[in-house]
Parts: sequence; structure tokens; C-alpha cells
Amino acid sequence: MVAPSSSVSIDAAVARLHAVQAAMDKAACAAARDPGAITLIAVSKTKPVEEIVPLIHAGQRHFGENRVQELKAKAPQLRDSMPGLMFHLIGPLQTNKVRDAVALADVIHSVDRPKLAGALADEMTRQGRRLPCFVQVNTGEETQKAGIPPQEAVAFVRACVETYGLDVQGLMAVPPQEENPALHFALLRTLAAEAGVSGLSMGMSADMEDAIHHGATHVRVGTALFGPRVNKG
Ligand SMILES: *Cc1c(COP(=O)(O)O)cnc(C)c1O
Repeated sequence: MVAPSSSVSIDAAVARLHAVQAAMDKAACAAARDPGAITLIAVSKTKPVEEIVPLIHAGQRHFGENRVQELKAKAPQLRDSMPGLMFHLIGPLQTNKVRDAVALADVIHSVDRPKLAGALADEMTRQGRRLPCFVQVNTGEETQKAGIPPQEAVAFVRACVETYGLDVQGLMAVPPQEENPALHFALLRTLAAEAGVSGLSMGMSADMEDAIHHGATHVRVGTALFGPRVNKG
């Protein structure tokens, strides 16, 4: 077991976790949804294992990382400390990182192009690991952002399932920063219904209540659980 950095940080981590859980429960109740149907993914990118362990002690089991290299550095150590942890890869994935991604992650949220879908399918067969996946949709059609364009999302989900045999559980999106996220959450929900998938990975620290209102099944929360990130990520 990795030692947590101090008892003060444990208390702070537990308090933040409870506050986020309370906000999620409240949003679920307001939307007449079952709070138990919404998974909290603690986004631990850039945070050292010493800051993650207190959350594990407090009962958190799902964690999100956006870089394969970082997952490789932290996941094995954290898994040793607690059985049953689930690691979600939430960042853009290059095909040359697919082998490590399939070996280290439990869920992949960023499937967004045929080449990647094919590489993931091949690698999952090779490793005998069939990971649940989300298709990332670039709902804001931002040029610099990962994700399949919304007009292509439904056909791409079909191809992921039928051509590549991936286990697609839902759609994922990161709305543009300057826009009202609600419109993007609503679009993602419509596309998921059209594609026939039920999972919706949407909502971050600033907009998780809104995302839950629009049907999020997985919220990805970093800052509200760990405090601000110093380095970019
Ligand atoms: C960093 C990140 C998050 C968490 O963002 P916060 O605003 O810190 O909650 C969620 N999703 C993705 C894809 C991220 O990269």
C-alpha cells in the first residue's frame, strides 16, 4: 500500500469526494434519476499516486487518465494497493499506444476513427481482452479537438460494432469551453439514442449537474476532487 501524503490531505480528499457525490445525488434526484446509475470517474491526470490513494481509501474505485504513459506509470502500483480498481482512458489515443492502452485500461472513452477502431479490435483479440468502449464525438466540430464529427457518429458506432466487433457502450464528448454545454449534452444523448447505445460519458467539474440532467451515465471529474492541476493536462 502506498502511504498517503498526510492525514490532512486524506481528510481534504474525503471531504471533496463526499461533496461531489452529494452534488451528483442531488442532480440525479432533481432529474428523477437513480443516483446508482451514474458512475463517478475521478480524473487523476497529473496527480501523483500519493494524492490518489486517499480517494481509494475513501471508497472511490473508478479513475480516469488521459495519457497512456501516465496510466502505465501509476495504474500497476494503484492496482496493487486495492483490488477492483477501474481505469478509464479518456484522452486521445494514437495507434502506436494501443498495445499499452489495451493492456492497462479497463474502459476506453476515446474511440474516434476507423483506423483506431481497427487497431483496438486487433489488439484486444491478440491480448484476449475485450474492453468496453465509448465513441468520442466532437459535438462542437472544433478542428483541434478529438472525436468523430456528429454527422458521422451513428454510422461510425455501427462500424465499430459490426465491422470491428468492439463492445461500444456509449458516446463521450467534451463540449467547447465557451459554449453552453447543455446543447452538446442534448446532442450527444440524441446521437446515442439513434446509434442504439445507452452510455453517456459527459460532464466534468464545472458542468456535471447539467450533464446528469441530460442523462450522463459517467461523469469525469478532476478539479473538484483533486484541486487545480499545476501542469497542463
Ligand atoms: C481533464 C479532463 C476531465 C476533467 O476535467 P475537470 O474540469 O478537471 O473536472 C474530464 N474529461 C477529460 C476528457 C479530461 O481530459
